[in-house]
Amino acid sequence: MTLISTLKRSLDPLHGLSDSTQQEFATWYQQAKVPQIRYVAFLTALLYLVYAAVEQQVASDQLTLRLLIHGFVVPATLLAVGIMSFYAQLYRPMLALLIASPINATINHLYLNSHHNDFAYFSPELYLILIWIFAISGMTLRQSVLTGGAAAVLILATTLGDSLQPGLQHLHLVWTLAATSFGLLSAFMLEKVHKTMFLQQSQLALSASIDGLTGLWNRARIDQLFAEELARAQRYGTAFSVILIDIDHFKNVNDTHGHAVGDTVLRQFATLLRRNVRMVDKVGRLGGEEFLIILPEADSEQARAAAHTLQQRLEAFDFDTVQRKTASFGVAQFRMGDDLSSMLERVDRAMYKAKASGRNRIEVL
Ligand code: GH3
Ligand code: MG
Ligand code: MG
Repeated sequence: MTLISTLKRSLDPLHGLSDSTQQEFATWYQQAKVPQIRYVAFLTALLYLVYAAVEQQVASDQLTLRLLIHGFVVPATLLAVGIMSFYAQLYRPMLALLIASPINATINHLYLNSHHNDFAYFSPELYLILIWIFAISGMTLRQSVLTGGAAAVLILATTLGDSLQPGLQHLHLVWTLAATSFGLLSAFMLEKVHKTMFLQQSQLALSASIDGLTGLWNRARIDQLFAEELARAQRYGTAFSVILIDIDHFKNVNDTHGHAVGDTVLRQFATLLRRNVRMVDKVGRLGGEEFLIILPEADSEQARAAAHTLQQRLEAFDFDTVQRKTASFGVAQFRMGDDLSSMLERVDRAMYKAKASGRNRIEVL
């Protein structure tokens, strides 16, 4: 890795990863943010009502407009965000309102207070809005940079002239700078932490699905894939088949050459299976020297042909130490009414029939 891409990776843990990973993260992140958006929207709506009540007691002008904005428009917008967050199909309009509400609050604030003598008392709302956008609202880094950037530009465009006059109003610039930079930093850190967590979680999920010895799908995962294929076949009536494979006299390998050689044979056997099936077929290790292949859209004749190809490749394959090894194959095609156990039972019977008929055979049931 070059220095530049190492640096980019340290800033963005997903840098350089595939588009589908980025897309998966974006979808996952959006989902994860929804509860935060909801709770923050409800809390902020409530706080604005409190603000409106206090403001009515202390503000010296435009009381009706202030009440309309802080007691009605802003809380109602936030309430709508909170309610819309319960409906996945309203995600986009909800996001639009979420972005609009702090911008709206900023514009109203600047209109009501920026040229006011009491500006210093009111201005904390602006700094809080900035922090709220970046760190609290539940927006992603990109959304908050756009929204927070727009709010900061609006604030500076309106107040810079006054703030540069000699006097205490200089401090407003410091607080704006502090709010923007704290906010930006926390938005950046939050997203980075979530990206790292997402990567670790997906790696964990993957390693929990893989058989450690052979790299094939493990029992749990192949059962899951089997169940998915069954559900599809039951729903759409598509054909699919499974092949159960058990290596013949495998115990001899361990007994004669030791467990390590047995492990190597299992690994080589797994590679042979994977290399000689279609891309869409799923290969798993059920345990010991038993393997299951799921063949979507294949009827029993096609599955038998696939098993036959494997049998031939196996006959021609040179294993380390043991050279030749054979296996027994059971084949079963999905039948309407099948469930996981009935289909497994049938393919198991087929495989045992192959064993009983002399091994190195294929039986279809
Ligand atoms: P058959 O032709 O009837 O299938 O005979 P077999 O010897 O292959 O069948 P059996 O089920 O008696 O033996 C399977 C052996 O597989 C027993 C067990 O020691 C060995 N085995 C199971 N898991 C592993 C493993 O992970 N590594 C190694 N090296 N051996 C394993
Ligand atoms: Mg066995
Ligand atoms: Mg065996």
